[in-house]
Amino acid sequence: MLDDLSKVRNIGISAHIDSGKTTLTERILFDAGAQGWIGSVDDGTAAMDWMPAERARGLSITAAASREQWGRHVMQVVDTPGHIDFMAEVERCLHVLDGVVVLLDGIRGVESQTEAVWEQAGSRGLPRLVFVNKLDREGADFTAVVAEMGERLACRPVPVVVPLFDDAGAFAGLGDALGGRVQWFAGKPPSAVAERIAAELLVAHERVVEAVADRDDSVFADALAGRRIAAARLRRLLRAEFMAGRLVPVLCGAALWNRGVDWLLDAVVDYLPAPVEMPRHGLWATPDAGDPAAPFCAFVFKVQHVDAATWNFVRVIRGTLAVGDVWVRGRGGASGTCATLWVVQADRHTDVERAEPGQIVVLPGEFALRTGDSLCAPSAPLVLPAPKFPAPVLAMVFEPERAEDRPRLAQSLRELAVDDPTLRVYFDRDRLLVRGMGELHLEIVADLAKARAGVAFHCSRPQVDRRETVEWVGHGEAEVRALVAGAECAAVCEVEVRPAPGLGPAAVLDDGGGAAAAAGVAELGLLAAAGLRAGAMHDLVVVVQRAECSAREPNLPLLEQAATKALEQAIAAACPCDLEPWVVFEAWCPEEGAPVVLADLAARGAEVEAVAAGRLGARVGGRAPLANMLGYVTKLRSITRGRGRVDMRPAGLRPVRRQA
Ligand code: GDP
Ligand code: MG
Repeated sequence: MLDDLSKVRNIGISAHIDSGKTTLTERILFDAGAQGWIGSVDDGTAAMDWMPAERARGLSITAAASREQWGRHVMQVVDTPGHIDFMAEVERCLHVLDGVVVLLDGIRGVESQTEAVWEQAGSRGLPRLVFVNKLDREGADFTAVVAEMGERLACRPVPVVVPLFDDAGAFAGLGDALGGRVQWFAGKPPSAVAERIAAELLVAHERVVEAVADRDDSVFADALAGRRIAAARLRRLLRAEFMAGRLVPVLCGAALWNRGVDWLLDAVVDYLPAPVEMPRHGLWATPDAGDPAAPFCAFVFKVQHVDAATWNFVRVIRGTLAVGDVWVRGRGGASGTCATLWVVQADRHTDVERAEPGQIVVLPGEFALRTGDSLCAPSAPLVLPAPKFPAPVLAMVFEPERAEDRPRLAQSLRELAVDDPTLRVYFDRDRLLVRGMGELHLEIVADLAKARAGVAFHCSRPQVDRRETVEWVGHGEAEVRALVAGAECAAVCEVEVRPAPGLGPAAVLDDGGGAAAAAGVAELGLLAAAGLRAGAMHDLVVVVQRAECSAREPNLPLLEQAATKALEQAIAAACPCDLEPWVVFEAWCPEEGAPVVLADLAARGAEVEAVAAGRLGARVGGRAPLANMLGYVTKLRSITRGRGRVDMRPAGLRPVRRQA
């Protein structure tokens, strides 16, 4: 199927919510002939948005992976969610992609989430192609959006496809800046218009030439001599510059009307890399990556419970996985025989016999696999680098109407947490506590849990999840005595806590002298269990300096008590303080509404960093404590009579300000 790896393009479509990712992906499925109908997010028939919760909301929550054919190329397309609450989904998809198509809304241009995905993809060295969408809409401004890209994404955008307009100013065609081809949606442009667009295309062509002439003397010389440079040569040079990260080809169209999608697919083939061309980092830094003859190894990037089945989405990194093969989990603890392999097209799947490097396939079955696991040949187990997920920032209590339903509800939530690594489920004094990334995230989790568990329950209002840290070094020592089997036994524990800014959840270290190990405390997790309070301690390390037990057999419960006491002492001595999550926000409103918006933000304790008047009204950017921004979306709408909007994303933890 994929005999030639150089003909594979494994891409993701990434963007701010509502830019048209799902619509575009649907058009790709249609154009590539995988599907005989075009789904629509507006009437809930999009194949990529196939979970009921997604269709009901018209937005994509889970990334669906799909494989299509384009000419002689095979494309594996992953539609990723744009809402910030689902960033983890984006993160794990980026982990297995070779290139990204970043979609921009032709009216809104670069949005905060565009910047976030731009950085996320850039930090992994993934090449990013841009498609400016929705050019059919009134107020769309391709030129302004391209200029904004240069400023806000700090890149050099080079339009390779430009929009063409009729004499009434309506979006009526597309032009190819390299070869001068024209697509006129209503047949052929009238001759008067044809002359104008020829001139426009020449300008676009010169801009492309200029972008590569800086680097290539022969192009420079030809351009100077007025010789036209062939499209194929320009494309080759552009690609080299693109892969070196020095420029970004920009395409455009209107996905809803299937305008420009074919040229986008051509560009994906022309510019984005095949798996074999990927720079050797991330998963592709694995020895022998891409070699179908090497010992088999694949990366699990998604585990999803679909009805009663478990779908494990894997990308093969090296070797070949065939039906009948035995595999082991890289970090141990699981193994299996590959009974079935599927290729997925949205919610449908087809059996395949084998999967080779670069391919994305589904291994159906419950194997206790988790996102980030590797599957390997038993002869060569390997642990691959896993994506990092941000810590949840909101907590909500789930309370079943009947107490006896609690285990059932908890089980459903735990299954959801397997599918979604940013979801955490805890029992906190008999309460079922669920932690997640945002209001929308938890709302959707509640919907999914309702469908899965089939029991009635209430949810509390989401609460901001605070953490604790320390500002100084603190020391603690405790001794606990008890009668054990008639003899007195003493346990002594001595610990030090130290601030570790940026560490994340607290870590426990031995002091290097093996103090804890000497006492037979094999697992330092003892301390974590004793005192680190379900992940609430942050940005600090606990160093175990002494852990001893007078009995011959170390008494773990006694040691644990001593450890808890010592840790509490140490924390009290180290200036403990609470941390709370902050967000970075970007709000837009009509210019005349800005004073009211600013006053409201000031009342929320926001730090406003930038106020600017632009194409779309006033833009206010800054940071604020998440707790003060719950429900802000609704409030902003009401104070701007429906015309304001805001984007927020997590911006780490900060000490809680003491009330003056
Ligand atoms: P996503 O959140 O990025 O997946 O965006 P969707 O694909 O769900 O699209 C959001 C909305 O924009 C839907 O109502 C689409 O019909 C609409 N839309 C998408 N592409 C276009 C386009 O090219 N032109 C117009 N006018 N609307 C579009
Ligand atoms: Mg979508």
